[in-house]
Amino acid sequence: MSISRIDTTVAIVGAGPSGASAAYWLAIRNIPTVVLEKKHFPREKACGDGLTPRSVVQLESMGLGEFLKGKHMYYGLRALAYGKALEIPWPKSPEYPDHGYVVTRYELDQAIAENACSVGARVLQGYEVVEAIRSTAGRIEFLVAKDKDSGDVVEIFAQYFVLAEGANSRIARSLGAARDRSEPMGMAIRGYFNTNRSDEAWIESQMDLKDEGGNVIPGYGWVFPLGDGRVNVGFGLLTNSNRWKSINTTQALERYVTQIGPSWGISATNSGSKPIGGKLQMGHTISPRSGLNFMLVGDTAGSINPFNGEGISYALETGRLGADVISYVLSNPSTDLTRLYQARLQASYGNYYAIAKKFVKLISEPKIMAPAIWMATRDERLMTPLVTVMANLFSPQNPQIGDKLYHYVERFASLVRATKAYS
Ligand SMILES: Cc1cc2nc3c(=O)[nH]c(=O)nc-3n(C[C@H](O)[C@H](O)[C@H](O)COP(=O)(O)OP(=O)(O)OC[C@H]3O[C@@H](n4cnc5c(N)ncnc54)[C@H](O)[C@@H]3O)c2cc1C
Repeated sequence: MSISRIDTTVAIVGAGPSGASAAYWLAIRNIPTVVLEKKHFPREKACGDGLTPRSVVQLESMGLGEFLKGKHMYYGLRALAYGKALEIPWPKSPEYPDHGYVVTRYELDQAIAENACSVGARVLQGYEVVEAIRSTAGRIEFLVAKDKDSGDVVEIFAQYFVLAEGANSRIARSLGAARDRSEPMGMAIRGYFNTNRSDEAWIESQMDLKDEGGNVIPGYGWVFPLGDGRVNVGFGLLTNSNRWKSINTTQALERYVTQIGPSWGISATNSGSKPIGGKLQMGHTISPRSGLNFMLVGDTAGSINPFNGEGISYALETGRLGADVISYVLSNPSTDLTRLYQARLQASYGNYYAIAKKFVKLISEPKIMAPAIWMATRDERLMTPLVTVMANLFSPQNPQIGDKLYHYVERFASLVRATKAYS
């Protein structure tokens, strides 16, 4: 076993969407950047593979528009519940395209990482960061990474560090980052299934899922067509109530596949692979999200949107935001990185995530969720703004729409609670 040393300006742990985005936006400014990724691309990742218009904006801005053009495009969401189906197109907006894509993470993550390399970032694959060594003042001095094939050790010295490890975030936790357990969290699982409906131009979401006892679950099932003869089928739920923490997600996915099997021509037996799942850390409920010379981005910072479980766009955005902050601090060394990063996160997501977390707590009461979904799926005028807010696709010119929506849902919840049936 040998020990070697790398010196750089910025070192990044993890080359998923958040780490590779940070690397791209640093390298394009000629800031020397090294990314350590424990896996080799291409690699599987538990994900629904759904890219909303928000993700498309970020990927196109990184020069990945041509890559997306060859992938399966879709135009909106088909929401199903209580025997009704509503097709809601993505909103027309000057900020966002009217379409998204479904792309396997097997392909997408490799493309994003290669894109970062193409502008000068150095991505070392097969290197797992096992420790962050800190000074007594609390700065990260260097990272210790292990080549998983040879066992050789590399020490990476940098001025700034970005932790983009995804949801398991061992290094960030070793630096004191922790989740606020009073806030919502989620779990999700997905599998691939062969079907002859793989070319459909809508993603589908089943909003009235039930547990084995027939109780409505605070979550949803999805079918995302990949355009290659397969669909990504999955199931996600909120686990902020103890009641749902013990739910067996594999069995819940099987029940969902059985339910939609006849319509999609799928069954547990034509699954292309064993389902895999993971945690959904949402609403920036992880803190602290930065230190003297480091920051957390993407899932490591808990960046997933609590309204819909979407995380790729927020990983790309927070990676970019982190790169902007580091670039600014490098040119203005007296700036406090922690303060600037927190202020930028708050300005971009603070109000929206505060509303989203309150909304999620409210809606995860099944007796409120069930009638709310029943009503929404019966009226396109309700469902359209709901989808726009939940996917965070409203215009910055109309920032109050989220607050208005929450206000209506809160009033609706009070009415439901006041009825005799709610006890
Ligand atoms: C079942 C499921 C379905 C989902 N569906 C969707 C969806 O359809 N659309 C959507 O937008 N979001 C979805 N999400 C959320 C989305 O997958 C995440 O938000 C997104 O992957 C976050 O990107 P990231 O870069 O922060 O982390 P990750 O994608 O997890 O990347 C982290 C990277 O860091 C590497 N790494 C970790 N630790 C180390 C270490 N110590 N040393 C070196 N490398 C390390 C990992 O190997 C990995 O490559 C889903 C999540 C789940 C679990």
